[in-house]
Amino acid sequence: MELRVFSVALCVSIFLVSKMAIIKKYKSKVEKITNPIPGIYTISFSSDKKFIYNPGQFLHLALDEYDGAGQWPESRCFSMQSSPDEETLKITFAVKGKFTKRLANELHEGKEVWLKLPYGDIFDRGHSKENCVFIAGGTGVTPFLSLFTHESFREYINPHIYLGFRSKEYNIYERELPSVALSANSVALSVPKIFLEDIEGIIDIKSIFTENGTNSDYFISGPPIMIKSFKKYLLSKGLEENKIRTDDWE
Ligand SMILES: Cc1cc2nc3c(=O)[nH]c(=O)nc-3n(C[C@H](O)[C@H](O)[C@H](O)COP(=O)(O)OP(=O)(O)OC[C@H]3O[C@@H](n4cnc5c(N)ncnc54)[C@H](O)[C@@H]3O)c2cc1C
Repeated sequence: MELRVFSVALCVSIFLVSKMAIIKKYKSKVEKITNPIPGIYTISFSSDKKFIYNPGQFLHLALDEYDGAGQWPESRCFSMQSSPDEETLKITFAVKGKFTKRLANELHEGKEVWLKLPYGDIFDRGHSKENCVFIAGGTGVTPFLSLFTHESFREYINPHIYLGFRSKEYNIYERELPSVALSANSVALSVPKIFLEDIEGIIDIKSIFTENGTNSDYFISGPPIMIKSFKKYLLSKGLEENKIRTDDWE
């Protein structure tokens, strides 16, 4: 009996370890920078080592010099926007404070930076893949893009996507749509409902809940204030807490 309990525990541990990604440091080079609207930058990085991560995960980016072994320098977190199958790794950041101002000023094509990844498990925690609801505000759409362009998104049946942007110019999803649509792995994405703040106001969580109810799993990514209020609303409507997964950017 004891041997059986031990074997089961061992199998569970092996399974968990195999699911856990190993965090690695990558000396990386900035390949491309795009700055389509003031204050928003999309950066592609390359590295000698293949970047290993799952859709929806995030990295730590350090700007200062580093020897690869000592004390990790000051860094900030950014979500991977690219699919793990892509050769380069892509992020998008909005200039907010001291560190992102430095990124905007100091990053240039060819610059070397250090990345440490992967972190997070938003899409790796068990959930039903039928009728999932994806809600993102602004640059918060990036972890979703990483999933939508990955083969694992084929497993999602009838996804519902709701995105909010300040105005048309801030719609990263539309800008990235060609690569999303052309990706060999992408499935027929349901057309997202886009809320443009300057025209129709912020994302309407009440109508989203009316459309989807309590049987769906909800993924929410974006500013902490949005996540907090949407989560509070969904819980007040009786949605179980384990059906709400968030990617908090704080
Ligand atoms: C999981 C996750 C994913 C994210 N993904 C993205 C993304 O894809 N795109 C994006 O634009 N933003 C993303 N963010 C937010 C981003 O990491 C920054 O926190 C945000 O852009 C704030 O700007 P800043 O770092 O320039 O501000 P700063 O004013 O430099 O710092 C903001 C906060 O960082 C903390 N901080 C200050 N100094 C240090 C230090 N020395 N070391 C560590 N922390 C310090 C403090 O709490 C401070 O208030 C993500 C955050 C998280 C947690």
